[in-house]
This record gives sequence, structure tokens and C-alpha cells, in this order.
Amino acid sequence: MNPNDRKQRRRALTRCFFFHNRTAAFLAMSAVILNIPLNLAVAWQMQQLIDIAAGSPSAFTLPKISASLALSFAVMAAIMALGSYARPLFIERAVRQYRDYTFEQLTRKSTAAFHTENTSAYLSALTNDTISIETNYLPALFTLPGNLLLLIGSFALMLYYSIPLTLAAAAAALLPLAASLMAGSRLSCQEKKVSDQNESFMAALQDMLSGFPVIKSFKAQPEAVRLFSLRNAASLKSKCSANRTRIILQNICAAAGQLALFLVFMLGALLAIKGYGVTAGVVLVFVQLMDTAESSISQLPQIWANRRSANTLIDKLAAALSCGKEQDGIPAPHTLQDSITLQNLNFSYSQEIPVLQNITYCFEAGKKYAIVGNSGSGKSTLLELLQGGYTGYQGQIRYDGRELRSFRPDSLYNLISVIRQNVFLFNSSILDNITMFRDFPEEKTALAVRRAGLESLLAARGADTPCGENGSSLSGGERQRISIARCLLQSTPVLLADEATASLDSATAFEITSSILSLDGITRILVTHRLEEPLLRRFDEILVLKDGRLTEHGSFDSLMENKAYFYSLFTISQ
Ligand code: ADP
Ligand code: MG
Repeated sequence: MNPNDRKQRRRALTRCFFFHNRTAAFLAMSAVILNIPLNLAVAWQMQQLIDIAAGSPSAFTLPKISASLALSFAVMAAIMALGSYARPLFIERAVRQYRDYTFEQLTRKSTAAFHTENTSAYLSALTNDTISIETNYLPALFTLPGNLLLLIGSFALMLYYSIPLTLAAAAAALLPLAASLMAGSRLSCQEKKVSDQNESFMAALQDMLSGFPVIKSFKAQPEAVRLFSLRNAASLKSKCSANRTRIILQNICAAAGQLALFLVFMLGALLAIKGYGVTAGVVLVFVQLMDTAESSISQLPQIWANRRSANTLIDKLAAALSCGKEQDGIPAPHTLQDSITLQNLNFSYSQEIPVLQNITYCFEAGKKYAIVGNSGSGKSTLLELLQGGYTGYQGQIRYDGRELRSFRPDSLYNLISVIRQNVFLFNSSILDNITMFRDFPEEKTALAVRRAGLESLLAARGADTPCGENGSSLSGGERQRISIARCLLQSTPVLLADEATASLDSATAFEITSSILSLDGITRILVTHRLEEPLLRRFDEILVLKDGRLTEHGSFDSLMENKAYFYSLFTISQ
């Protein structure tokens, strides 16, 4: 993949965080930055307070310093309130936009891309990985500069109080920094592993849930539970390693920080006793500043590491989004005037095994064709190629003389509709599912409903009846009729169906196929495994595939007269 493209994708993803979100980001950042001088001012006032109390000379009185401290705390509370309002708002909007953008980009991918990609990568990206970004990456946008500035401010104030003490503190602070930098890159690797494992976990879960009825009916629950448990353990194990590294990192930083604090405290006490201009107030404030600086230092490498690991996740998503884009091309026509021709068509999924071999044929516009053949003979593959599902074929597929690959893939939907075995239905009304949420003239919708044989269903239930989750309140035949009505409304000149009625009972299957065969004016190519004479007779031609080759074609009668492969297929099936 093109690295420039990936960089652009990544930028587009991170841009989602700030889109219409700059005010919240600005307020959250302001809260962080305003807090820093306040923190330092409080430290300074504490020092004054202690020294006044200890009797050292000072320009301020005790009540004055106390009042100013109280004021500082009040302002601090207001700033905290601002931060606690703005930061969650920023994060919520950032994550929402990131997810929306990802899903929107996914819908732009070509259907061909979905054949070859693993969709669980996106499930993982939109769930687990987003949580990691939400908790690790986005807050770091504020904590990272905030902690850095606080560190610089604390050091400046410490330098003002005592140079030798500050130098000692700086040297001691190197300890936690070095230790945690080393653990940081390890953490980033581990986060990537967590994401990969989560992806396989999602894939397994998806598979198992969709195969639930099969698992139940063959009593394979124990095996399913075992497989689930394996994936579950693998996914949590990688998470456990990452958490362990994170905790080790925290502990090293905390321990090294404490050690540094202790060293500085001892040196400060020594300097105070020896009288090098260091007062009790200075030592105490120094310890407080050290504490502030130390907690900044101990958090910095971890924030940095978390940020890096979230970056890896964003990169991973960017890479996934970069492939399988819709290719450019000319727009596909809305009509088929003449024919669809196949010229020496060859195709294989993998190099070694040819699936379609040297197919040459001409489908004439407006006619109806059946494709028959044994299981594995390449029927579905041929239909998939006709709809632009795979572009890696040799030879040619021409719609009215123009090569299929020259069309822009998203414009193919103007030319070809496909009736599938599994009809996808939105959990919305029957009418919405027919129109797919678009507006059509009422007569046009009514005509499509009538031609698809849906009139009685609509009369009985009403067009506004909800279909239920993926059409659960409808029968298989009703779902198929909805998909036919959909295709009719799209008004595409070509209609393809791959065993669309295979899951229906034979009476319903017969009716549905009949309905499709009655749709005059549309070029129809139907893959069918039901060899029923009354239906087969109604096709203009039947194409017979055997081991990926077109062995015969012709009308039902002529094929029967030939007494060749089709004849034997047909007689065996009766
Ligand atoms: P049919 O629809 O006639 O049963 P298919 O077109 O589905 O046949 O399959 C033809 C051959 O291609 C079979 O040998 C099948 O195993 C193989 N095949 C189908 N789909 C794929 C795929 N996605 N990847 C690799 N091989 C495939
Ligand atoms: Mg098939």
C-alpha cells in the first residue's frame, strides 16, 4: 500500500477528533495551562507561610498570605470545574466522530473488498481499539503538554530557590525517566498484539453466533464453548501482558521518584543545617515541588507510551481503510441495449486451481437465462464475475461492448441488481425496505409491489408494518419478494440471482421464480439447482457448467434432445 495514502488516512482519522470540537479542546487545554502558574503560586505562598510562621523576615503578614492562598484555591476550583466540563465533552465528540467517519469510510469500500477482507478487523477497530484511544490517546493530548509545562515551571521555581538542590533533583529525576522509556516501546508492541487478538476473538464470536442453529442442532455446544474459551483466553492473555507492563512501568516510575525525593530531602536538610541560604520553608516547598515534578516525570513516559500504542491502532485502521477502495472508471449505463458477452473468460481464486475455463457466450438483452451444473462447477463464481465482484479474471466481460472493468464499481448498481439467498432487511417498515429509504412516485412503487407479488402481504399487514430485526417477522418467501420489489424499483436492466430460492419450500420457490420469469423487459440470469421442467422451459436458454467449463447451452427441449450432460443431470434429479 502507498505510504502517502496511509499517512493521509491517518491524518483524516486524527482530524475527526478536532472537527467542530476546537472550542471544547481549547477550554480543556486552557484549564490545564491556567492550572500551572496557580500550582506554582500556591507553592510559593506555602513557603512564605511556613517561613513567616517560623519567624523568618518576610514582606507579607500571616493574614495576607492566608487570604491570598484561599483566593488561589478558589480560582483553582473554578479552573477544575472548567476542565471537568470541557474535557469529557471533547472526548465524547472526538470518539463519536472517529467512529462515524470510520463506518462512513467502510461503506465506501467496494463490495469486492468485502469478499477478501476480514470484517472482524473493523469490529475490533470500532470497539476495543476505540476504547484504547478514548482512554489513552485523547486525554494525553492535554496531560502531555500539561505535565511538561508543570515540570518546566517547577524546575524554574526550584532554580530560583536553590541551584545546587535543583541540580541534584534533576540528576535524580533521570532515574525514572530512563527506566520507563525502555518499557514504553514494549508496551506499544503489546497493545498491537491485544488489538490483533481481539480481532480474532471477534471473528470467532461472529462465526459462532451466525452458526448458532447449526451448533445447537448437532449438539456441538461443548466444542463451541471450548473454541470460544480458547479465543477468550488468548485475547485476555495478551491484554494481561500489556497490563503487566503498564503496572511495572508505573511501579518503576513511582519507586525511582520516591528515591529521588528522598535524596533531595536529605541534601536540602543538610544545606539548611549548614546555612547555605536554605530555610525550612524552602526545603518543604522544594519537597512539594519535587513531588509535583516527580509525578509529572513519572507520568510522562507512560503517557508517551500510551500515545504511541494508540497511534499504532490508528495506523492499523488507516491501513485497513486504505485498501479496497472503489476504483475510478466511467459510469455504467442505466440500460442494456444489446448484450452481455463473455469472451474467453478464465478465472481462479488461487493460481493453481482454475475455476472458470475459457467461457465464451452472449446473453442477449431482455432474455432470461438459467445457469445449471453440479455443486462446485463455478455457477456462483460466474455470477459473481458478472456483477463485478472480482476483477482478476482473464478474457472479457462486455456490457453492450464495454468492458466491465472500465466501469466505476459504485455505478454498476445502476446496471445490475442481485437477488441473494439471504435478504438483508433493515429493522424498519416494509415500505422502507422496498424503497430503501428513497422517494419514488406512488404508481412506480405500487407497480413494483404488484409485479413482485407483494400486494396481498401489504393488504393484510400494511406497508408501515415493521419487518423486525433482519426481517424476523416475515417469511422467507416474503423477504425474497421484498428483495425483488427493491430490484424492480431500482429499474436496473439486468437482474442476477444465485439460488435465491434455495432456502424456500418448493411451492414458494416455484412461485418466486415464476414471478421473476414474468418480469419482461429485464435481462435475467438465474443460477438454479432445482431442475423443474415447467420452469426450465420458460428460460430462453440454459447454460450448463461442468468443472468450470460451459459444456452445453440451448433451450430445454434442444438440450434434452442432445441426450448429453444436461440430459443426465436432469434425469438423475427427477
Ligand atoms: P457452484 O456455485 O457451482 O457450487 P462455486 O462457483 O461456488 O460453485 O465454486 C466453484 C469452485 O471455486 C469450487 O471448487 C469452490 O471450492 C471454489 N471457490 C468458490 N469460492 C471460493 C473462494 N472464495 N475462494 C477460493 N475458492 C473458492
Ligand atoms: Mg453456488
